[in-house]
Amino acid sequence: MKTAIYHGNKTMTVEDVPGPVIEQPTDAIVDIEYAGVCGSDLWTYRGQGAQAPCRIGHEFVGIVREVGADVSSVKPGDWVMVPFRWSDGTCEYCRRGLETSCVHGGFWSREIPWAGQAEAARIPYADGTLVKAYDDGHRPDDAVIPSLLTLTDVFTTGYHAAVSAGVGDGDTVIVVGDGAVGLSAIMAAKLLGAARVINAGSTHEERHALARTFGADDIISTRGEDAVADIRSLTDGAMASRVLECVGSAQSFSTAIDMAAPGGTVGYVGLPHGVSIDAKRLFFSNIRIAGGMSPAHHYIADLVPSVLSGSINPGFVYNRTYTLDQIGQAYDDMDNRRVIKPLIRLV
Ligand SMILES: [Zn+2]
Ligand SMILES: [Zn+2]
Repeated sequence: MKTAIYHGNKTMTVEDVPGPVIEQPTDAIVDIEYAGVCGSDLWTYRGQGAQAPCRIGHEFVGIVREVGADVSSVKPGDWVMVPFRWSDGTCEYCRRGLETSCVHGGFWSREIPWAGQAEAARIPYADGTLVKAYDDGHRPDDAVIPSLLTLTDVFTTGYHAAVSAGVGDGDTVIVVGDGAVGLSAIMAAKLLGAARVINAGSTHEERHALARTFGADDIISTRGEDAVADIRSLTDGAMASRVLECVGSAQSFSTAIDMAAPGGTVGYVGLPHGVSIDAKRLFFSNIRIAGGMSPAHHYIADLVPSVLSGSINPGFVYNRTYTLDQIGQAYDDMDNRRVIKPLIRLV
């Protein structure tokens, strides 16, 4: 089978490797139909993530080809979503809905070589990991597949920011960040009942238009102190009780805290890079910080009906489609911000 391999120094290749086989009775083999390129793949591409050479990709969907003897929830032919970490579905953390802390869980292409930007993968703990769109396993329409693909990582990450910040009916919500996670957070906030969503740090026209498509009511392009001042005037000094931090840089985190109203919550999902928080800044205004790595698996089943009914279309974050052979171009385009999020189509 073919797989993408990252070699360091912004070099991607597509190579032939032996395909996956069932190794454990709890495994499944999935033939991959679509995969996304994630912002965290871009960190790797830029030399700040996994060690090269490595296979890459962790948001993918496809068709079950084969299952091990102990697998009962899926069968060959079922169409499934594969979250960005696998999980056993049975440990204490999985039962609590924190599958990202599963005691038997892991990241694609780390503990095992299999990854999403490839023609197939071996799935450990298939019963705990894989999620079908329909109970009977049938394949959804092509039109909704990109949106279902977002549930494996990017949309459920934005959703986790909104859930962590406690977004509910009638809230004013600020989303810091204009990447695919920020756009997802805008849509998630609206889905959870936000009355007004302000997108902060949206830098160029194409992103403004997409932010509006995803549900933003107001957009500000400023950053840092200027952005805080803009939020103050847009909210008549009230700021917002729910702020969603979707970047992970020191500046965006600091800005998010400054935009929170007393008693408010910052929900953060951007992987922190160089962020340190002065607890005193939180203390005097009772600002809470919540969030972290999204337990995507926990949210998928709840969100599938909203996607299948068309009430949300988060698949719009994939604004260009590539073949697996074009993977190098996909990364280069994302690295240079010519594309928001590449969709890799394998069928
Ligand atoms: Zn990711
Ligand atoms: Zn578990």
